[in-house]
Amino acid sequence: MTDKGSIPFLDLVTPHLELEEELVSVFRSALKTAGFVGGQIVDDFEEEFAQFCGVQYCVGVGSGTDALRFALMAGGVQPGDTVLTVPNTFIATTEAISQAGATPDFVDIDERTYNMDPSRVQEYLETQCCVTGASGKLLNRKTRRPVTAIIPVHMYGQMANMDRILDLAERYHLMVIEDACQAHGAEYFSSGQNRWKRAGSMGSAAAFSFYPGKNLGACGEAGAVTTNDPLLAERVRMLRDHGQRQKYCHEIEGYNGRLDAIQAAILHTKLKYLSEWNEKRRRIARRYDELLRPATTVIPPYESPRTKAVYHLYVIRVRNRDALQAHLTDARITTQIHYPTPLHLQRAYATLGHKRGDLPVAEGVAAEILSLPIYPQLEYRQQERITAEVINWLLKRPVNSRNQHLSLGGMSVLPGMIFTPQKTNT
Ligand SMILES: *Cc1c(COP(=O)(O)O)cnc(C)c1O
Repeated sequence: MTDKGSIPFLDLVTPHLELEEELVSVFRSALKTAGFVGGQIVDDFEEEFAQFCGVQYCVGVGSGTDALRFALMAGGVQPGDTVLTVPNTFIATTEAISQAGATPDFVDIDERTYNMDPSRVQEYLETQCCVTGASGKLLNRKTRRPVTAIIPVHMYGQMANMDRILDLAERYHLMVIEDACQAHGAEYFSSGQNRWKRAGSMGSAAAFSFYPGKNLGACGEAGAVTTNDPLLAERVRMLRDHGQRQKYCHEIEGYNGRLDAIQAAILHTKLKYLSEWNEKRRRIARRYDELLRPATTVIPPYESPRTKAVYHLYVIRVRNRDALQAHLTDARITTQIHYPTPLHLQRAYATLGHKRGDLPVAEGVAAEILSLPIYPQLEYRQQERITAEVINWLLKRPVNSRNQHLSLGGMSVLPGMIFTPQKTNT
């Protein structure tokens, strides 16, 4: 790092340098065999990742976007269908729906978890859909299109409320595809099964991304579908490889969407560290929670006691977010916004005919969220500096109705006071 005092949003260099020998040897052995696509190492990684998620099958593909698209198609989503998801996700979720020939439709999110609100799903199914007499299909009343699947997204590494979503899906015969692209290793306590379950093991299938910045990242593009359904897994295997089960015997048209062998070997190497990295992320999140406690106007992430989040991102909610982000940028702390414009208001979806105000919770949240730096190598003193800057900014702000009574650890503080964190030995 050239700029010593700066804090990057993400550090992808250190973890790879730490594993340099292991990663380089992966490349060396690939060169020796020239096995660049498919092969034993892909099978091995698939088996390990399936085991990690607690499912029967994992099929490695080219990206998280491929994983979502193949899972939808393999699960039976047809051209002309409607698939329900949330508006505050990365556009890959809805791109996959469109690429499967279906149309995305949105339900609003829960104000506390930023995940799909099951009450909104229920309301959508009860008030905007009807069951046709003839086919028994669930149709959207307005578009007359069949609604066939739901994609809950485990945003930021926090599990969506799967019990209620799965209940509704069963009642209305909908397929559930989890978008677990930010949630490798996150856990959810299933009341139905009375046990903890991992992200990717709860729906009909799930999509993972191994984009470099994810909790488990390749050194390039990669993704995977997980499922307990052998037929679905088999169809994904065909879709990723030009619709063939045997070479040059194309039963359907597919795609070039395979996981390459070097990436599989890199993922195999890194998977051994994933639980440790996730634990570090959880510890960093707990420290942020503590350090930010004095800042009573900053809303930290909410983690339900029935879940174990893996903090792909640590997202706070605060008024005048843009001003805080600018202040942190001046202090050489990089932050990001995930995501600044909800999908229903993106130009790419203008044809869906949405307007501002349609999904008020997601819109309100998008205007106030800020992702702070988080990665396993983030140090405690860096967190102290980040949170001290957040608090300093709050103290310098003109008094307004919401933070008039800003208190720091029970003490009233005058605007303009500078807050320095106490020294700790953690
Ligand atoms: C990263 C991500 C994707 C897409 O994954 P790629 O590997 O980049 O195609 C999809 N959904 C969510 C929620 C993501 O964060």
